[in-house]
Amino acid sequence: MTSKKEVFPGDEVAVEEEYLASDGTFASNGIIYASQIGVLDLDDAECVARVTTPNPPNILKEGDTVYAIVGDIRNTMATADVVVKEGTERGLGGETYATIHVSKISPGYTDDVAKELRKGDYIRARVIGIKPSLQLTTKDEHLGVIRSLCGKCKTELVRKGKGQLYCPECERTMPRKLADDYGNVEI
Ligand SMILES: [Zn+2]
Repeated sequence: MTSKKEVFPGDEVAVEEEYLASDGTFASNGIIYASQIGVLDLDDAECVARVTTPNPPNILKEGDTVYAIVGDIRNTMATADVVVKEGTERGLGGETYATIHVSKISPGYTDDVAKELRKGDYIRARVIGIKPSLQLTTKDEHLGVIRSLCGKCKTELVRKGKGQLYCPECERTMPRKLADDYGNVEI
């Protein structure tokens, strides 16, 4: 049988006659104490007492690859709401509101954010700064828009050549900073 309860450093959690101290616990004079805050795990199979901390909050750091949805398009930047960090399904703790400066969108020179990103675009981006606010880049080949719907008719846009998307319904083409695998990403 395994019992689990929350304990605090210094709490008596077991006796050495029954369990060995392990991760997050220590023994003193025959008593086992918690050495950290967490959940007590009295493992009867291995006869060890552990205290484990629940998953720490998933805080973004520089270099992380993230998926985000583009928000407002402004003169010199786009805003985006980070949805998830690549390689994890856990929710994000901390800030998810990010900005992408016009100089960080495309490898080539861009002076018009609206030619590269549009509101609602699903993008893959990399975190390049976290202070004073979350900053992203989409400069690399593998970064940029991975899915986009037509602003007029909501049809999923298809890739048409380098840096172009096409709406089969409206029969119009529009520029975008695309990731190299646009249209092939499971979301
Ligand atoms: Zn359309």
